[in-house]
Amino acid sequence: MIFMSNNYELARARMIREQLIPRGISDQRVLDAMAAVPRNAFVEDALQSQAYGDFPLPIGEGQTISQPYIVALMTQALQLQGHEKVLEIGTGCGYQSAILAHLCERVYTVERIKSLHIKARRIFDRLKLLNIVCKIDDGTLGWPEHGPYDAIIVTAAGPQIPAPLLEQLADPGRLVIPVGDRAGQDLLAINKNGGVLSRQNIERVRFVSLIGSAGWAA
Ligand code: SAH
Repeated sequence: MIFMSNNYELARARMIREQLIPRGISDQRVLDAMAAVPRNAFVEDALQSQAYGDFPLPIGEGQTISQPYIVALMTQALQLQGHEKVLEIGTGCGYQSAILAHLCERVYTVERIKSLHIKARRIFDRLKLLNIVCKIDDGTLGWPEHGPYDAIIVTAAGPQIPAPLLEQLADPGRLVIPVGDRAGQDLLAINKNGGVLSRQNIERVRFVSLIGSAGWAA
């Protein structure tokens, strides 16, 4: 058992060295979080040995956990300092939420599929990630009760930026979301500052669909 966990620690160090640093992940806090969170704990047993590979993995219900590099890239784009309240849409297996939990004060995360929400919540408890609050809902509506959020991250791709998310973004605030069609999207970073929105294209990506009232119909 000790050998196994040590082995995964080595796998994480290698992931950081080979997949993240060479592609421009330079925020030390993000690298430290990627080194600390056991990605293997978020996938089913049969996939644990592949958890640190340079690719996405299935998490059930036709959904996927993003490749480590994409998780790190989106997290870095949020420029978290530690004091923030962050909203995540698309809890999935909960890996991205766990990374965020290491980097901000509190994470609010919304998932539309019940079985994924339940599994993720179990892992948050097991890893004692007490600053993650999660619920089952249509995340394209945001989570108005707890807003505004210093940062919002959407880990599924929609045809446009859901208006409720822009409304619930604090000023200053930062929103990272893939937007495009089903086959491919642009990963966007939206900055709100002094009431003005600016937009930066980070990278071409391919995400599972954001399904909901301000996303795709199904
Ligand atoms: N961050 C996740 C990525 C999971 S894939 C992880 O680390 O595993 C994206 C997730 O978004 C899927 O679980 C999908 O069910 C969910 N999703 C899609 N549309 C949604 C919506 N409108 N509200 C909440 N979750 C949604």
